[in-house]
Amino acid sequence: MKPSGCMQCPRQCGCNREETIGFCTQSNTFRIARAAPHFWEEPVISGRSGSGTIFFCGCNLRCCYCQNSALLDAKSGIAVTPMQLMALMLSLQDAGVHNINLVTASHYTEQLIPLLQAVRSHGLEIPVVWNSSAYESVESLRLLDGLVNIYLPDFKYSSKTTAADYSHAPDYPDAALNAIEEMLRQVGPPQYDENGLMIKGVQIRHLVLPGHAMESRRALWMLQNRFGNTFGISIMNQYTPMPQTAGHPKLSRTVSEKEYDSVIRYALQIGLDRALIQEQSAASQSFIPDFTLSEEKLEEVSEKYKKTLANCKKI
Ligand code: SF4
Repeated sequence: MKPSGCMQCPRQCGCNREETIGFCTQSNTFRIARAAPHFWEEPVISGRSGSGTIFFCGCNLRCCYCQNSALLDAKSGIAVTPMQLMALMLSLQDAGVHNINLVTASHYTEQLIPLLQAVRSHGLEIPVVWNSSAYESVESLRLLDGLVNIYLPDFKYSSKTTAADYSHAPDYPDAALNAIEEMLRQVGPPQYDENGLMIKGVQIRHLVLPGHAMESRRALWMLQNRFGNTFGISIMNQYTPMPQTAGHPKLSRTVSEKEYDSVIRYALQIGLDRALIQEQSAASQSFIPDFTLSEEKLEEVSEKYKKTLANCKKI
């Protein structure tokens, strides 16, 4: 961590995370809520054997409708050392998953760099997926160059007003577009293996919000206008009202078929022919994973990979 404090995302809190926490609610210590195969990502990511998701606690965007809001508490999940985190990655690989999927890790970017370098030289062979909100600084993302194979960023908002209302981040559209540009510079358009699984590239996600079809159409236009057809895109229909969205009347329902269809039609109209779409039934709280990483599981995994990681220098 630089002496000036944490400036690693656009929030630029400047706080010393050894002593306190910033907007993301986390200190320098990794806190993890779940490390398990996950079967509900895009088929090109989950495949048949699942994506090896590792859910990090905290978030630097903290959208008011977050489905994983249980992870925003500073004490949620379990504190995990770098060695334990590497052991979790190796155990997921041995379980047969197609990739290691780091979910909402942007506020740990600097802390993850030495760990990702070390785990590659200690047996991690499958692709690493960076699954983020895209509210990230270009400087931080540059540190990941060569360490991440697949970027899975959101592009949530096209207007500063909506970004401010729902995520306290009026600079989101500009920051996210710059972040996605850097991701594309690093890994380029999607590439697939012989089984149709993604092995490299950028797959952007856009979640359609109720009452915001126009916002979505504009978001797609902004992406297409800036990056052409160089990225994969998932247009998501799984918005689910959460208790904490009560103060936002527009967010109290799911997305209508008419709204979602209008966004899909527009995507095709502007030539986004790599778009993946979702069924209406996707809007359900059953998509929220069970956040149950236990101390016992962590100890068991650490013990199992102790020898493999024995000569790993201290991170
Ligand atoms: S990573 Fe967290 S502490 Fe650092 S600038 Fe972003 S929100 Fe603030």
